[in-house]
Amino acid sequence: MKKRNMLVSLGGNAILKHTEKGTAKEQFENVKKTSEYIVKLISEGYHITLTHGNGPQVGDILLAYDHAKEYLPPMPLDVCGAQTQGMIGYMFQLSLKNILKGIDKSVVTILTQTIINPEDPHLENPTKPIGPFYTAFEADQLRKEKGWTIKNDNGKGYRRLVPSPIPLGFVEEKCIKTLHDSGDLVIASGGGGIPVTLKDGKLQGIECVIDKDYAASLMATLVGAEILLILTDVEKISLYYSTPREVALDHLTKSQALKYLRKGHFPPGSMGPKVKSAIDFLEYGGKKVVVTSLESAYDALKGNTGTTIVND
Ligand code: ADP
Ligand code: MG
Repeated sequence: MKKRNMLVSLGGNAILKHTEKGTAKEQFENVKKTSEYIVKLISEGYHITLTHGNGPQVGDILLAYDHAKEYLPPMPLDVCGAQTQGMIGYMFQLSLKNILKGIDKSVVTILTQTIINPEDPHLENPTKPIGPFYTAFEADQLRKEKGWTIKNDNGKGYRRLVPSPIPLGFVEEKCIKTLHDSGDLVIASGGGGIPVTLKDGKLQGIECVIDKDYAASLMATLVGAEILLILTDVEKISLYYSTPREVALDHLTKSQALKYLRKGHFPPGSMGPKVKSAIDFLEYGGKKVVVTSLESAYDALKGNTGTTIVND
């Protein structure tokens, strides 16, 4: 049987739900459940590459450094991103290996550095809130001490904003591709990858955040995936989301997706990047994008639920 090549992008709640505290036990339990779904897809004949978000985990690490600042030097955001790739990658390597049992497949996490353009205009305009909330006084101090951009987050307190530039490629591209082609299950570009610039042959970590959906579509193109499966916490994409006029979508073509994106049905920071990355993936040779929840993934790939996006 020819294996179907698929990139699976896991949203936040595949690892940690909004209502949970984030204990290791909770995260391991979620990862185990997610891994069971992944292995079910592998047994169906899919060759999978995995990527995942890291928002809550990186938030916790920043909070921990903030509370421990009297005793420990805080690490910059790129280093915190690397920490989350390690911890989440480990949880998946352990869980997947336990569930794969008889299936002969190595599971390997590639600590991934995502290349961004040092001249990317997004770098001049921080938009993504991260880390703990501060008081107005603390915010003022941090602006002076560290040069951070800090803004009031919807009246909830002050939060650091970092830029979200566009990913251009991955430093570890070649080894990701080699491991993928040899049949291994590769976990890569977690949290969108660690943002780095490459200037005069020299890499430099940058304190910003790459949208994991954009990195996922780039990774899917790189490994030559036929399908991009985006798992999030809704079963389908909707028009007029969360209003009385809401209509769930079963099927979209690339041009319909673009039309609705332009009309503002998919907001930045949540559904917008998923639809945009779906369009990019189809543009660069991908065959099909499915957006659905973890629980519905199996049925959605058979076309029975979820939202499927294809070329016109
Ligand atoms: P993830 O962790 O999977 O990236 P996000 O919260 O970033 O999750 O994006 C998924 C969320 O997008 C959904 O939970 C839903 O609340 C929101 N959303 C916004 N617009 C839409 C839409 N048009 N259709 C479906 N969901 C939408
Ligand atoms: Mg998201």
